[in-house]
Amino acid sequence: MDDFTPDVLVIGAGLTGAMIAAQFAERNARVGVVDARRVGQGATRRALGLATLSPHMAHIQETKHGLQRLKRLAAQHGALLQSCSALHLATAPEGERALQQLAEAAPDAGLEWTTQRDLLPPGFSGGLLVHDSALVDIDRLLVRLLRHPNIAIRQHAEVLRLERSDRATYALCKDLTIKAHCVVLATNVYVGLLSPYLADSVRGARGAIWSSQPLRDTGTLGHPYTGMPLLFDDAQWALMPGKDGEWHSAVWLWRERDADKDPSEVLRRFLRRFDLGKPEQTRRWITGVTTTTDDGAPRVGRLDVEGNLLYALGLGAYGLAWAPVVAEQIAALAFAG
Ligand SMILES: Cc1cc2nc3c(=O)[nH]c(=O)nc-3n(C[C@H](O)[C@H](O)[C@H](O)COP(=O)(O)OP(=O)(O)OC[C@H]3O[C@@H](n4cnc5c(N)ncnc54)[C@H](O)[C@@H]3O)c2cc1C
Repeated sequence: MDDFTPDVLVIGAGLTGAMIAAQFAERNARVGVVDARRVGQGATRRALGLATLSPHMAHIQETKHGLQRLKRLAAQHGALLQSCSALHLATAPEGERALQQLAEAAPDAGLEWTTQRDLLPPGFSGGLLVHDSALVDIDRLLVRLLRHPNIAIRQHAEVLRLERSDRATYALCKDLTIKAHCVVLATNVYVGLLSPYLADSVRGARGAIWSSQPLRDTGTLGHPYTGMPLLFDDAQWALMPGKDGEWHSAVWLWRERDADKDPSEVLRRFLRRFDLGKPEQTRRWITGVTTTTDDGAPRVGRLDVEGNLLYALGLGAYGLAWAPVVAEQIAALAFAG
């Protein structure tokens, strides 16, 4: 694309925007993607790369579909690091009961309740195994999805305002105005700039991520560790094996009652509990924000009555499995409109 007058403009070049842009590009639309920063520098940069089901009854089928599609896409683009199982754990008895009930209610989804001692960290009596999960190289997937002849990218172009005129939408950046017939907001946390309504329906979550130096000792966690990704309390904490013997851990504070807590401090406590996180083992600390919704499902819809301003926000902690689902929903809305 020489000029920048796309059929579809996607605002936000994270996982959501890339997946949506690729979907349109595959259907021969000319797609423009703009980002206030660089590609993949928002929440997507923080993601640990675990593609797995959202452990909520209402979301199992959708995220199972998304997960299968994501795995195919990742394999096609050389971004599938490994297939694996993931283990969900709960620190409160009611959370544990909910996970157990889920395994009983949805055995066809590849869920299994386990009490196998050698899989469980000390202090846990059972956990939900999600088979058919995968570790994905998100950076690579993102770059490969956006490398399509129908996609043009503008980085460092923050959209400050949107205006409607002559059945088209104009996205106004500081030094650039982009006209498009269809505009998709894939801006995650930053949507407050564009719509107070959307800012109310998704919530920001603050988090901290820690990566270790390569650790020779695999007997962390106080037992013969299997190298399986662990998710605690609906992904508020996560512990993930990385490349070359590194470990990654993340803590997210989802709720307003945690507003005064420091996510880095919460993460340090978590690492101490599992005898990880010695300062000399630390390669990287970063903090960031992402969005969640009250019911854990992303918000996808139309913002205007004419139907050409669409949004896909709040993918939350299971964003990898949700992303193909929201991309399909956006395409369905666009082609119906
Ligand atoms: C610590 C952490 C670990 C995670 N681990 C996993 C995991 O292992 N597995 C998993 O499935 N999910 C994980 N997630 C969730 C996953 O990362 C998110 O659901 C997903 O990355 C959200 O992608 P996004 O594209 O919606 O948002 P983002 O990646 O935040 O992208 C939004 C983009 O929009 C741009 N933007 C915003 N406003 C404007 C504007 N006005 N103009 C132009 N551009 C704008 C931003 O610069 C940004 O690049 C994790 C999240 C976190 C925070």
